[in-house]
Amino acid sequence: MADPEVGAGETGGVPDPERDDATHGSSGNGGRTHALQRPPRRLPKAAEVLAEELRGRILRESKPTGTQLTTEAELIEEHGFSRGTVREALRLLEVEGLIAIRRGPRGGVSVGRPDLSQVSRTLSLLFTLDETPLSEFFEFRKLVEPYAARLTATSATDEARRRLLAYVEAGPDDPEYATNFHRVLAECTPNQILQVILVALHDVLDRHVRLEVIDEREVEAVTEVHRRIARAVMDGKSDAAERLMRRHLEAFEKLLEDQGRLTEPIVPRSRWRS
Ligand SMILES: [Zn+2]
Repeated sequence: MADPEVGAGETGGVPDPERDDATHGSSGNGGRTHALQRPPRRLPKAAEVLAEELRGRILRESKPTGTQLTTEAELIEEHGFSRGTVREALRLLEVEGLIAIRRGPRGGVSVGRPDLSQVSRTLSLLFTLDETPLSEFFEFRKLVEPYAARLTATSATDEARRRLLAYVEAGPDDPEYATNFHRVLAECTPNQILQVILVALHDVLDRHVRLEVIDEREVEAVTEVHRRIARAVMDGKSDAAERLMRRHLEAFEKLLEDQGRLTEPIVPRSRWRS
């Protein structure tokens, strides 16, 4: 049976006032659902049309990163668009990370690879605007990170697991270094979707807050827990890795709860920095 939500979402973003009202009336989350809706459809600008064509070409031709592409002058010649339109189209693709533009006399356009900074930036903006609380962040982390630790213990390459262990063994008892452990583990996780989501989420935090810096004296204890998790992962002890990670996150959540911080926004508006 068709899911009515999916059906409504597939109308191509045509404004539906009734649906809009219903969302406002029932969401009760500060309009967050509204923020996630598709924008209304409009006619694309010339630059967007050109960007879409170039995007399709790059993806279909599967050229490796760094491959030189058609120059700005060639694009103007080929498509008959103005210089301004071609530049805007290239800028759109550059922001997406799909191309790299080297400016100047020896400049050029080459195939790029999007990194996660765009994802984490958008997440940061949404979480900041909606004042998404830390409790939701921990709810998600408890659901996903213990499993990521298990998966890394079972199926990551030896190289990835050695990298994680080397990270904790070489590391100082330093707050920033400790927080970054979770990002390194995410990078070692052998599932690209988990990797992308977790790395982007941790980048949101990295840019704005130092969660694990509550008390300098606790850094040593946190670092020791991280070492135990990394050793379990290295030894392929999946149950232990999962359990240790879950307990670690629960303990941390409890600490924040005791300090009354769990209801605070992940990224307080006042602490925004880009
Ligand atoms: Zn930790």
